[in-house]
Amino acid sequence: MTAVPGTERRLLVVEDDADLADMLAELLTGEGYSVDVARDGQRGLHLGLTRSYDVMVLDRGLPAIDGLDLLGRLRSRGVTTPVLVLSALGNPADRVEGLDAGAEDYLGKPFDIDELAARLRALTRRHTEDALTLPVLGGTLHPATHEVVRDDGERVALSVRESELLEVLARHPGRVYDRERLLDTVFPDAGEVGVVDTYVYYLRRKLSRDVVATVRGVGYRLGAS
Ligand code: CA
Repeated sequence: MTAVPGTERRLLVVEDDADLADMLAELLTGEGYSVDVARDGQRGLHLGLTRSYDVMVLDRGLPAIDGLDLLGRLRSRGVTTPVLVLSALGNPADRVEGLDAGAEDYLGKPFDIDELAARLRALTRRHTEDALTLPVLGGTLHPATHEVVRDDGERVALSVRESELLEVLARHPGRVYDRERLLDTVFPDAGEVGVVDTYVYYLRRKLSRDVVATVRGVGYRLGAS
């Protein structure tokens, strides 16, 4: 199966049971995911912090760093990727604990693979629906996390205002915004249109010169490929 660049869903599995990890990798690759497997929490933490995923499956019972501890560390470092926790402990209190730790979903072992696949599809869909395409860059803006994810997986953190400015432009690609309009929308307290130019400069420096296009005498629009 060949995926269009940038549309392949990336998935991280953290599972110490080698047989189960192999089975999950095979089945989820068959579902169209690009799968990375970590066999312990330390490796899972490293991958989760350095690569970009659309969804993660974390086993709760892991040696050294357990699944919920790992999840807490990822969340505290700003990783907002949807997470499904797998656990042999499937009682309601245990489930609540998992969701409180920041998991979006929780599945007790043994689980039905079709159910797991369906839940991952739902989580991935919710995550990617929020993303706005940045055609000139080859990537997407995730307004909820103020993050740009390039198609090669590289993540660029934006400030809140940088993200908001880019979001306004990316929600209506092709539409030209005058600077006063952008000032009112994104910087209502600033009062001076020069701040819009400054933030366009920041975005171009961080992402690409072409990410925002200047429309002479009018204002700005999203850069088109
Ligand atoms: Ca385990």
